[in-house]
Amino acid sequence: MTLWEERAARNEVVFREVNEQVAGLEQGSAGGSASFLCECAEPACIDRIGVPLDVYEAVRAHPRRFIVRPGHERPELERVVGTQDDFLVVEKVGDAGAVAERAARRP
Ligand SMILES: [Zn+2]
Repeated sequence: MTLWEERAARNEVVFREVNEQVAGLEQGSAGGSASFLCECAEPACIDRIGVPLDVYEAVRAHPRRFIVRPGHERPELERVVGTQDDFLVVEKVGDAGAVAERAARRP
């Protein structure tokens, strides 16, 4: 695993932690959606994506899965497991997946 790959995986984990806080704040507005940060590997990306909360929760149930804007997926790090109009659901493969899973287990 290259340093770049390790950094890319960690970057996505940071965005996930921010988005989990967004989801927590939006709890209670049942059936609603929230504006989440794109969870892609690009550190400079600040795109926001409107995602229904129930969809976000379903993605978050998988430690290796992330939400990214279409075109922001990295085939060398992840594979697309879901396609919507505004976003893709990607699943980390290989070492990037292992990094994501380790981070998700942190208390
Ligand atoms: Zn992005």
